[in-house]
Amino acid sequence: MSELVRARVEERLVKLRLGAVAQRLDGILSAAARAEPTYLDFLDQLLAEETDAKQKKRVAMGIQIAHFPAVKTLEEFDFKFQPSIDQKLVRELATGRFVAGAENVLLFGPPGVGKTHLAVALGRAVVEAGHSALFVTATSLLATLAKAQQEGKLADQIAFYAKPKLLIVDELGYLPLEKQTANLFFQLVSRRYERGSMLITTNQTITQWGHVFGDEMIASAVLDRVLHHSHTLLIQGDSYRLKQKKRAGLLGSTKTNH
Ligand code: ADP
Ligand code: MG
Repeated sequence: MSELVRARVEERLVKLRLGAVAQRLDGILSAAARAEPTYLDFLDQLLAEETDAKQKKRVAMGIQIAHFPAVKTLEEFDFKFQPSIDQKLVRELATGRFVAGAENVLLFGPPGVGKTHLAVALGRAVVEAGHSALFVTATSLLATLAKAQQEGKLADQIAFYAKPKLLIVDELGYLPLEKQTANLFFQLVSRRYERGSMLITTNQTITQWGHVFGDEMIASAVLDRVLHHSHTLLIQGDSYRLKQKKRAGLLGSTKTNH
């Protein structure tokens, strides 16, 4: 009889999409038989098990969809090596609240100082906080938009990049843009303005953006929208990559200047 009930419970759990509990039913039941929790505690443990499993699954999927180029976390980031970074701001951004408010983040700094690392780590934190994210390099983003334009599918492609709550654009400004490409970027920024967050990393200061976009008008139109509700992180230290090389004795001990 109890076998019958057990089978029915499992069937109903599956039907209700409580798969984690269904899968671990025997373990949960025997643990409860040993510990004899109150009815309320038992229900609490059961629901916690399913909620945790669903959260883990959702985060894993969100991370997959985000297409991060590597696994980087804030825990792995050595803030002592980069004292110019406003650590308090980074912690605040990691709560994901800026995404709820459709605010942007601009990460400035020379090569090797951890811009991509922080962008990925914040992206993960945002996904863990329950938002969708997508990581792209500026080069691939703009190439995809340009191709879509040629094929008459620009609106669809912009809609695609407008969808995630956080769009991370890495390495803007490494190469100056053609005016037409700069205009595509402007269209995307306008589309996302006050609707979804962007996190942009760049090695160029704001004063150089006119040069990056090949056009002062487009640059200021982009900046106007991006900066309106934004947080700025400035990294001014040495390259972490070079530090590692120096340690390995591949370079002299002279300080590098960017
Ligand atoms: P950027 O994008 O600014 O050029 P990256 O984020 O790619 O730099 O950093 C280069 C490498 O050094 C990466 O492997 C990154 O994980 C690591 N790194 C950079 N800064 C730090 C740091 N402060 N703590 C730990 N690792 C770091
Ligand atoms: Mg980088």
